[in-house]
Amino acid sequence: MPNNLQLRFLGAGNAAAHELGNAAAVLEDPAGRPLLLIDCGPTVLPAYLSRYGALPQAIFITHTHLDHVGGLENLFYRLACEFPDLSPPRLYVPVEIVARLHQRLAEDPYKLAEGGVNFWERFQLMPVGERFWHAGHCFDVFAVNHHAYRTAFGFGLKGCFVYTGDTRPVPEVLTTFAADGETVFHDCGLVANPSHTGVDDLAAHYPRELRERLVLYHYESKAAAAVLRSRGYRTAQAGDVFALAASAARAA
Ligand SMILES: [Zn+2]
Repeated sequence: MPNNLQLRFLGAGNAAAHELGNAAAVLEDPAGRPLLLIDCGPTVLPAYLSRYGALPQAIFITHTHLDHVGGLENLFYRLACEFPDLSPPRLYVPVEIVARLHQRLAEDPYKLAEGGVNFWERFQLMPVGERFWHAGHCFDVFAVNHHAYRTAFGFGLKGCFVYTGDTRPVPEVLTTFAADGETVFHDCGLVANPSHTGVDDLAAHYPRELRERLVLYHYESKAAAAVLRSRGYRTAQAGDVFALAASAARAA
């Protein structure tokens, strides 16, 4: 069953490139309605509201660095104070990082000065393992290579897309999860470091056929993105929308 989803970027910068927006994207249905926000750094909620005029109803979290989850605190306050009757949005979190997310955002019992509200009361936490269902699609979840062991995750939809989150090259992952023509949205800046991919890593780790399916994000600057394009790669920036192939996976 064709789905013809699309992916809209709300930001594509690395943690220091605030002006590019924190790396985040929204999986949209064919009519452009938001299905699933991917990550929620501090710049993301304003960008989301400006695009859709409503708070997100579903979010997937790749890892707990603050440029990917720092905006959840703002979202909590809006849900707790401005929209207390709104249904809690679904927060899909790889089960191995639930405790880290709790420590980072939810441990304080006085998120409100007067107390009385727990962070998790305003979210529907959905711990996810290797796969999860959302909006009739079954998404694959996989560990990537970013700082500590199994603390960062990517996800994808077979035949449709893969989104790596922050990572070094992960050829063994993409051999498995990007084997069917998927568009691969991949962390990449100009210069590599121990946590992120650099442009020279791509040819060293990935075959040409896969490199042609990459869309690069999480880079240092607009100038860096221009160099990535001059090297033959596609890049994403805030506002860009990518049409996706129909998923090969079963859709409800
Ligand atoms: Zn990170």
